[in-house]
Amino acid sequence: MGKGLFSAKSIQNQLFWSTFMSVLAVVSYAQEVINTNTHRLEQVADGVYFATGTGDIYTMSNALIIERDEDIVIVDSHITPAAGRALLDSIRIVSDKPVTTMINSHFHYDHSNGTPAFGEGLEIIGHQVTYDKLTGDPENEHTYQSSLRRFDSTVARLENELSNVTDSDERRQIQNQLDYWKRHVEAQSEIVFTPPTQTLRDKMTLYRGGREIQLHYFGRAHTGGDLAIYLPDEKIVFTGDMMLGGISYMGDGYVTEWADTLQGLKGLDIELILPGHGPRITDIERISFVQAYYTDLTEEIRRLKDLGYSAEEASARADLRQHEQTLGVRQLGANLEAVQRMYDIWDGLIQ
Ligand SMILES: [Zn+2]
Repeated sequence: MGKGLFSAKSIQNQLFWSTFMSVLAVVSYAQEVINTNTHRLEQVADGVYFATGTGDIYTMSNALIIERDEDIVIVDSHITPAAGRALLDSIRIVSDKPVTTMINSHFHYDHSNGTPAFGEGLEIIGHQVTYDKLTGDPENEHTYQSSLRRFDSTVARLENELSNVTDSDERRQIQNQLDYWKRHVEAQSEIVFTPPTQTLRDKMTLYRGGREIQLHYFGRAHTGGDLAIYLPDEKIVFTGDMMLGGISYMGDGYVTEWADTLQGLKGLDIELILPGHGPRITDIERISFVQAYYTDLTEEIRRLKDLGYSAEEASARADLRQHEQTLGVRQLGANLEAVQRMYDIWDGLIQ
């Protein structure tokens, strides 16, 4: 599924296009998109590319490529070593510099399990919590385990659909999807959880190679150790999953603290937000929309808990529909996993 403008097939073509694109970039700064066989690389500043998967291989999360004078720093590595290798292949289309440094936005499997693809000598920087999670029992983290079940059930569902469909076009379509998900499930067998080699708790700044890269921890949000990766000169921030265009997965989150953490993010001078999933965000005001949701969710669930409702009941009754305009919340209710976790935190079962 090579999409769009430049689905160059041969390496030579790709090199031609990459040279051509970098010339173009001088005149038309921060506008270019390069489509490789597996990725869409959006040039968001000179030498900075926002990488999103285009569907040939399952990547699940976004990544950021930051070129320095002598080397390349990337933020996040996708979901499997195979997806990480595809990212590396895509990087090779825009630069032949070595990838020396990986920054983990957080510990989740879909952002960090591609790391081994970038070789042994890699410097991996992450929050202390990310280190603790990836050296703890990452294989049995509930979020990772539920993803394995989800992919298995996707394969089972497609196998079932295939056995019930007779139309040849439809069969071909389902078979393609099935092959895609089977490839992903197979790719999981190669996973080796790879922790940071260097950690921080609050802030770190990298100055090497003509580029300032700031790593900020503003507090707990999507996990206990989310980093915002900030390029002050470019006014760009990569937020991992602490700030998406909408509501993030809350299964490892700290909903009651999330809005405060996003307040820290608002303290940065930013013109562009690059989230861990979904497209770039130019409307910086979205931070306030998302912040308001977590604040209201906290208040609403607290109110229902105080009335004596169970987590299940609170999850069904919570009314957050005032966020329909900004976040598309049309249905009554809130995510049960998130609500249960809020209860557990309030009840002192989770620290
Ligand atoms: Zn995540």
